[in-house]
Amino acid sequence: MAYVLVTGGAGFIGSHLVEALLARGHWVTAIDDLSTGTIWNLDEARKHSRFSYYIDSVMNERLMAELIDRADMVFHLAAAVGVRLIVERPVHTIETNIRGTEIVLELAARKKKKVLLTSTSEVYGKSTKVPFSENDDLVLGSTTRPRWAYACSKAIDEFLGLAYHKQYGMPVVIVRLFNTVGPRQTGQYGMVVPRFVEQALKGLPLTVYGDGTQTRAFAYVGDVVEAMIQLMETPAADGEVFNVGNDREISIADLARLVIARTGSTSTIEFIPFEKAYDQNFEDLQRRVPDLTKIRRLIGYAPKVTIDDIIDKVADFMRERLK
Ligand code: UDP
Repeated sequence: MAYVLVTGGAGFIGSHLVEALLARGHWVTAIDDLSTGTIWNLDEARKHSRFSYYIDSVMNERLMAELIDRADMVFHLAAAVGVRLIVERPVHTIETNIRGTEIVLELAARKKKKVLLTSTSEVYGKSTKVPFSENDDLVLGSTTRPRWAYACSKAIDEFLGLAYHKQYGMPVVIVRLFNTVGPRQTGQYGMVVPRFVEQALKGLPLTVYGDGTQTRAFAYVGDVVEAMIQLMETPAADGEVFNVGNDREISIADLARLVIARTGSTSTIEFIPFEKAYDQNFEDLQRRVPDLTKIRRLIGYAPKVTIDDIIDKVADFMRERLK
């Protein structure tokens, strides 16, 4: 049993992580400014006597100092996330992602508290060397294209985390999360699975961007948070970077068909050119698949939940919400 601080604890992934930690018997504190998270995500956690939360920003250094002092370990998930938000609020993205991580690391280093930093598969950028492996080069686009500000800010976070580990011997684990989906994720910021499921349940056309041949590999949030916890329990993970996700690929057009089939929807599929879907400076990625060799070797990680089950779980959640 440990005292655990989760930043971004009211977010989609953060709230699932909070529940998984509580289920393991830990005392959990969440901090979230509700910028993209919501208090409803904590409905289950709030029933728990071992849970407490603060609606505040990780930029509040005084509060963070207190919370990190009280914690044995920190899962740092608070960040500006989602492609759409990044394109719309570039200043906010860069500042939150870099300064927030700096604060967590600075404060945790003083007391040698263990930290997990959540990075993203976005850092691989436009690399075409699929699957992406942790030591591969990062291939980022021009600074005139806002999408890459997100990848860059997260890459700086990784450098910082690794530097704290190297220079101060601080226990830091870095995870690069690939497309992670499940209940509570909203389609508001562009994420494809909740968008398709909501469109299917409402009988609206499913909006496939481009020709739909681009692929992704979707991991269930429950599998992802279990991996994060296990890595924090494994000393050999310190100072290391891990891909976390699923390596089963599906094209976006096939995903649309699968969502329609599994929800029994009458929806059609509408193909929308990228220029119409996004800002003209946006570049979509053709394939994104993690190489999971490293995490499999260290903790025996194997994603359990299939895309069919993920769609069913998301649809069940969405049906409830639409009521
Ligand atoms: N996408 C789509 N329709 C939508 C939302 C997204 O076809 O309504 C596509 C998007 O262009 C991308 C894929 O689905 O190729 C995954 O998008 P998401 O934003 O979920 O994740 P990311 O692009 O960050 O992998």
